[in-house]
Amino acid sequence: DRGIGSWTERRARMSPDRVAVVYGDREWTYAHLHRRAVAVARGLAGLGVRRGDRVGYLGPNHPAFLETLFAAGRLGAVFVPLNWRLAVPELAFMLADSGAGVLVVAPEQAEAAARLRDLAGVRTVEVGPEYERMLAGGAAQGAAEPGDKVGPDDTCMILYTSGTTGRPKGALLTHGNVTWNCLNLLIDVDLAADEVTLVVAPMFHVAALNQTVLPTLLKGGRVVLVPHFDPDRALELVARHRVTYLFGVPTMFLAMARAAGWPGADLGSVRSALCGGAPVPAAVIAAWQDRGVSFLQGYGLTEASPGVLLLRRDDSVRRAGSAGTPVFFAEVRLIRPDGAPAGAGEPGEILVRGPTVMSGYWGLPNATAEALSPDGWLRTGDVGVADEDGYVTIRDRIGDLIISGGENIYPAEVEDALYRHPAVAECAVIGVPDEHWGEVGRAIVVRRPGAEVEPAELLAFLASRLGRFKLPKSVVFADSLPRTVAGKLIRGELRARYT
Ligand code: AMP
Ligand code: MG
Ligand code: MG
Repeated sequence: DRGIGSWTERRARMSPDRVAVVYGDREWTYAHLHRRAVAVARGLAGLGVRRGDRVGYLGPNHPAFLETLFAAGRLGAVFVPLNWRLAVPELAFMLADSGAGVLVVAPEQAEAAARLRDLAGVRTVEVGPEYERMLAGGAAQGAAEPGDKVGPDDTCMILYTSGTTGRPKGALLTHGNVTWNCLNLLIDVDLAADEVTLVVAPMFHVAALNQTVLPTLLKGGRVVLVPHFDPDRALELVARHRVTYLFGVPTMFLAMARAAGWPGADLGSVRSALCGGAPVPAAVIAAWQDRGVSFLQGYGLTEASPGVLLLRRDDSVRRAGSAGTPVFFAEVRLIRPDGAPAGAGEPGEILVRGPTVMSGYWGLPNATAEALSPDGWLRTGDVGVADEDGYVTIRDRIGDLIISGGENIYPAEVEDALYRHPAVAECAVIGVPDEHWGEVGRAIVVRRPGAEVEPAELLAFLASRLGRFKLPKSVVFADSLPRTVAGKLIRGELRARYT
């Protein structure tokens, strides 16, 4: 067994001629993907990559990303996908921290690659002629894959968490973690062998890779890779490829619903759209459901590979707004600050246990011990509320809570209400110090192009929808909001800028 590295092998036997990957107007069948993965594995072995070694990848979505991932799996090496929107020093940190010896890079990242060779002492292989020479070289030297097994407990990937606070930590996901997460998705979203999956989110982000690409490939479906997200182009691709499944973060679904091509978009082929990774505004759900799309919400985190909760297709309208119930193979608990289980309607920190929970953070025993209890419960740092039937609504990260005059204000709830105003393109609510209340809310709003609206109107709009204590005391207009590439608001930066 070669862990997930054996998937292409099994698929190449079962469905060699089916298309696995579509990239632009090129197609990779399963047989081709497998031949390429084997060649990359030999090439990496020829460069000295051995079992347990780390192999980085830096670049936008491209088939070489998947070839390298499966190749690393075959070798028992650890795949380290990196976010190409990070600055060079941040990337250098991750390469040095993980101790990656080889980094496969896209031509777009050539400049960063040159600096990373100096800063992190990493050997780079550029996708294109250099990458093809590596493949040919491995075959010529007769470089072999190791004969020993790659098992479910071996580390498959190190994923650096997007780090909205503190230094990035590398979550260690095993082959078993990744496989169980894919099984959860196949069961809960009910992916089929004829799935056509559109991948608009970047694959270095856990949800694009593990909730979208890998389960589709496990099942023998096809994935359509898009290197850079553009809402109108994404809608075109849905129609052109008869896409049945897509995943995106809320900002992407919002952008598509506000794109010029939205009114005329043909969404008839879509069986499920999965949205998650950040709070999902009700306006986004409504826009997609109004078009007849089954719009599912998922909640998860890198450390859980990532799926934890899912709102399934049958519940998607009835329970819109909720993140649903635990994924098939997971246990979830909500815990009050005093450590007691939270009852229905009571906010509590979400804890999860199961076969998708990471083995720990790379090189950080203390952080690992803080996050993971000895009996396997992972603390998420997120607050949720379950209703009588166990459906969980995500509130916020514990640290984002605004406490105003002793009342808890959940920014996502206020943001949700603001998103219902037609002039609001994007918004965020942060807590700012206040002499009287301790903290009060401040709304940062990006207006839709051409929309004219004043703070007083927005505040009046909110006053008709929310309890008085939840109302922001001020509204500030901005041109854009700072977000990670995964679509998460960088609240620390917002607070620094607008407090
Ligand atoms: P990451 O570890 O970078 O994948 O991000 C995980 C974090 O994203 C979680 O801890 C949550 O704070 C947030 N998140 C993920 N899914 C949702 C969701 N459906 N609603 C609200 N927040 C979410
Ligand atoms: Mg996190
Ligand atoms: Mg994170």
